[in-house]
Amino acid sequence: MDMNISGLVRDNIRSLCPYSTARDEYKGKLGVFLDANESPYSTGYNRYPDPRQLAVKSRLSEIKGIPTENIFLGNGSDEPIDLFFRVFCNPGKDNAVAISPSYGMYAVAADINDVEVRSVPLGEDFSLPVDEIIAACDENTKLVFLCSPNNPSGNAYDPADLMKIVDSVNAIVIIDEAYADFSAKGSLRAQVLEHGNMIVLQTLSKAWGLAALRLGIAYAQKYIIDVMSMVKYPYNINQATQELVLKALESPIDDKVQEIIAQREIVAAEVAEMPFVKKVYPSDANFILVKVDDANRLYDHLIKDEIIVRNRDKVPGCKGCLRMTIGLKEENMKLLESLRRYE
Ligand SMILES: *Cc1c(COP(=O)(O)O)cnc(C)c1O
Repeated sequence: MDMNISGLVRDNIRSLCPYSTARDEYKGKLGVFLDANESPYSTGYNRYPDPRQLAVKSRLSEIKGIPTENIFLGNGSDEPIDLFFRVFCNPGKDNAVAISPSYGMYAVAADINDVEVRSVPLGEDFSLPVDEIIAACDENTKLVFLCSPNNPSGNAYDPADLMKIVDSVNAIVIIDEAYADFSAKGSLRAQVLEHGNMIVLQTLSKAWGLAALRLGIAYAQKYIIDVMSMVKYPYNINQATQELVLKALESPIDDKVQEIIAQREIVAAEVAEMPFVKKVYPSDANFILVKVDDANRLYDHLIKDEIIVRNRDKVPGCKGCLRMTIGLKEENMKLLESLRRYE
């Protein structure tokens, strides 16, 4: 769809003049820093961090095959999710469309920003209702949230279905790929280079094992990246995170990802055989969603064995369901042993 992306941005954001950081204005070589009122005594952290995070973006650019100008880094995925609302949605007027059940942060960020969320229920076995999602959009819809692989259902969607939605709506379509590393369907991030109304969201919190460092990644065309960068806090990624992420990005994660996938298949097959289990939903992620006869009772049983899983019983579309993360082999064995003792 040929559309004017700047027309989707809030008027006040489009005309914003961003805060210019102390070192933004001069690009040459410098040796004496007396511009930012920092302490001159080195603690390792006495200087402000790079507000553009160029070193981290360059490394991610190599790993992901996306130019640095198409990469936005946030304090977890939470920050870009919040920024999407602040950049594109006029509070009290615009709306966002999201699939249900899906990741809870979309609705929380929408509520905080006073933006209506139109939930479109997933179909049978959590299938993607493409036409219903397109039909749920109106002239005030600015954002469409699609999560693939979806949390909590675990299934990844057909890339052609996701792209059909991108091509059919006059809104920004966000594809949350937090779990894409675990899916054979892969990532759609390269598609952002051809589709102006698309944002792909990834995170270092899951497959990369860096949840505590808080680094979320948004890929989009330069116009969107520039607007988001203008609205974010200047120093949103702290120096320790930038340094530790750069170091962690040197070690490949493929072996760990493959092991988690292998464990997922073992745990899913074992759990499916248990008498109280009604269904194990197929997963393209690092967790499985399990439907049982009494989710609350099983949850309490696992807690007594000091095992915590996520109880999704109260989530619309997930009645009777527990979401179980795939852990280390020993941890998964403990889970299976505890489940075998349940009666
Ligand atoms: C875990 C998760 C994230 C990651 O959030 P961070 O803030 O980056 O830790 C994003 N989206 C979904 C759907 C998730 O399940």
